[in-house]
Amino acid sequence: MFKLISKLSFNVRNFSIKSVRKSSNFIKIVEVGPRDGLQNERNIVPTEIKVDFINRLSESGLKSIEVTSFVSPKWVPQMADNVQVFQNINKVHGTSYPVLVPNLKGLEDALKVGVKEIAVFSAVSETFTKKNTNCSINDSMKNIKAVVEEAKKQDIKIRGYISCIAGCPYEGETKPTMVANVSTFLLQLGCYEISLGDTIGVGTPDKIKKVLHELKHVSNDMSEFAIHCHDTYGQALVNILTSLEYGIRVFDSSVAGLGGCPYAAGASGNVATEDLLYFLHGQGLETGVNLNKIAKIGDFISSQLQRKNQSKAGVAILAKKCSTNL
Ligand SMILES: [Zn+2]
Repeated sequence: MFKLISKLSFNVRNFSIKSVRKSSNFIKIVEVGPRDGLQNERNIVPTEIKVDFINRLSESGLKSIEVTSFVSPKWVPQMADNVQVFQNINKVHGTSYPVLVPNLKGLEDALKVGVKEIAVFSAVSETFTKKNTNCSINDSMKNIKAVVEEAKKQDIKIRGYISCIAGCPYEGETKPTMVANVSTFLLQLGCYEISLGDTIGVGTPDKIKKVLHELKHVSNDMSEFAIHCHDTYGQALVNILTSLEYGIRVFDSSVAGLGGCPYAAGASGNVATEDLLYFLHGQGLETGVNLNKIAKIGDFISSQLQRKNQSKAGVAILAKKCSTNL
């Protein structure tokens, strides 16, 4: 398929996994609301509100908050204030503030303001990649390779995104083998974690299982993978439950269910952080994140955006005046 990918895939395709590694009770949440969320909201949020929003998130116990994107403002005007946002937020010790970086120019700009972690993005659909990054998958891999190699020289942590793992808005079904190939490529390049994005929320447990099953051929360590669910068809939590059973322990979410995808018409927001926390805590899992604080932040950002709070748990908790201990 792609020379670049298949060459790197060769050595890891033969790994066999005897069992899913016994996983811990701790779940890491990557809050993507300030980036994935706000970049697709109709209203552009003033910089000082974004800074306030991120500072509140930092006080909730979250250890990873994706704060902005260093893409051209021509493409994503909502993120045009990336430098000001990154420079003005409080950086809590022990918390990561990754930013999305599409190319070397973005990396250069991110490095100038002291970014320590970046996210690079790819997809498993040619049409989606063409619309999103204006090039073929193969060319996008070359671009990512250049960014990752430069970032590694600067000692920057790199997270990789793969979009459309369960389906594409233009091509329909996508192939789990393709997700495995792109994952292999990104892991071998040096990404510490791959976030598997159900970008348009079409995944069902069966589709997610097929992808995760395929990934067992790529890595014997499921801690290298995260799941990034959108809730278009209301499947996010059940897909997350399925992923937990496969040993996944990192999940992306957006407070108040912010967001969508500008290149994927009809995609609704990410799974709401409040709903995810209520679910995980109710399962006896630990996150270190304070659900009551997150519910209040969800209310804050929803009113700033003058939009409906998409989190059912958030709305319920606020209606009961935050009486939950979860
Ligand atoms: Zn997303």
